[in-house]
Amino acid sequence: MGGQAVVTIEGLPVNNVLHPAQAAMMTTHGAQCGFCTPGFVMALAGWLDERAFDPDREASAPLKLDDGVVPSVSLRACREAISGNLCRCTGYRPILQAAKSLARAPPTALFKTHQRSPSEPLSDDAADPGGYTSGFREPQSLSELKTLLRQQPTATLIAGGTDLMLEVTQKQGRFDRLISLARVPALQRLELSADTAIIGSAVTYQDLQAATALSWPALHDFLFRLGSPQIRNRGTIGGNLGTASPIGDLLPILLAMDATIVVGHFDEPDRPVAISEFLQGYRKTQLNPGNFIREIHVEGLQDFLRYYKISKRQEDDIASVSVAVRLGLKASGVTLARIAFGGVAEQALRLPALEQALQGQIITDSLMADLHEQVRASLNPISDVRASRDYRREMAANLIVRALKEALGTPMPQIYGLDDYA
Ligand SMILES: Cc1cc2nc3c(=O)[nH]c(=O)nc-3n(C[C@H](O)[C@H](O)[C@H](O)COP(=O)(O)OP(=O)(O)OC[C@H]3O[C@@H](n4cnc5c(N)ncnc54)[C@H](O)[C@@H]3O)c2cc1C
Repeated sequence: MGGQAVVTIEGLPVNNVLHPAQAAMMTTHGAQCGFCTPGFVMALAGWLDERAFDPDREASAPLKLDDGVVPSVSLRACREAISGNLCRCTGYRPILQAAKSLARAPPTALFKTHQRSPSEPLSDDAADPGGYTSGFREPQSLSELKTLLRQQPTATLIAGGTDLMLEVTQKQGRFDRLISLARVPALQRLELSADTAIIGSAVTYQDLQAATALSWPALHDFLFRLGSPQIRNRGTIGGNLGTASPIGDLLPILLAMDATIVVGHFDEPDRPVAISEFLQGYRKTQLNPGNFIREIHVEGLQDFLRYYKISKRQEDDIASVSVAVRLGLKASGVTLARIAFGGVAEQALRLPALEQALQGQIITDSLMADLHEQVRASLNPISDVRASRDYRREMAANLIVRALKEALGTPMPQIYGLDDYA
């Protein structure tokens, strides 16, 4: 947060008048022990600001206002707004009521007015005796990024920090040299055409979701299941790839899409790397000191694509097991098959034998039964706190069948759960 203005709950009231989110939580008795209350209030305050500031984003889905004389929001939007926060005593009903009542609140502009302008420099070292920002650099251009990397090729790159900062909060780690990618315009590139996408590594999930509503609806819809609004506002595609967790959500999707990762270096030309080669093992990638992920290229947005994520909670949870299925479909059968899994091995992976078994085939019940067996026989996941080996294997196999049924147009129950309370 170097150089940023941080607004806490104490900063919400103006002239001792409570912010609408605070007033709503009081009116609806949305607080009990109080432990989670500041988080919920801040989430609601941010939500109200978003509605005031970004009608386009609102129109693209989660914060959509219902039509009507009295503006109101759907329960779905309210649940989405508080999905990054947990309450363990009051229960969610009064908090959802508080959210719903905010539909009548006047627009606010709290956070945007506090934002630092991009050109404003960070505080210098002299103003930071603890040295907390002295090792933090925030390049404003690609050439500045490369210059810094030339000077410090082993510095740690940070984009949203939603993975990296766990090293600090969970393991008391410390980074002496951090280079932020958040303000390099070239890494924010986001170009979508009918069938292709170029996604800069520092594009956040929120921005990607807003941009893909029409051009890549399968991804757009899934992104409601990635983290929460807080995480989607910060987390980036480059960060998901950089962490290369076996349960990172983007990895099976990018594997199924045969994505190309464009890797930059401070004095070498950009290098395109196939995602299947980019991922090298458990949290291991092809990135070496001095490298950075510049952008991701994807083709085939029109193909049939499903990504299923099984997790213990719907909201703000990572996958126990996940499956991405991309198919080219013609009357003659399956013209292209890409199947990738997360949470079943030390890294996200494809099963080429399974893809070959599907290629050129007409999808039938017996083919689905064969593939189900093949998945069970091919995968050997571990058991851990998230799920047992057998559960993971069974779910992975079932999800392949589900995808094929969906490809045939068989109506299936919603699994993202968002429409349950629309
Ligand atoms: C509460 C919570 C919920 C989460 N939910 C999910 C979820 O549902 N699904 C999911 O997949 N993940 C989830 N995550 C993990 C995380 O949000 C994602 O992996 C996210 O994409 C990380 O992006 P970031 O920009 O925050 O990465 P950072 O934390 O900034 O960086 C992560 C790693 O990538 C490297 N890196 C970042 N950008 C680049 C680049 N351009 N070039 C080279 N290296 C780079 C960094 O050096 C670091 O090693 C969650 C995290 C939290 C805290």
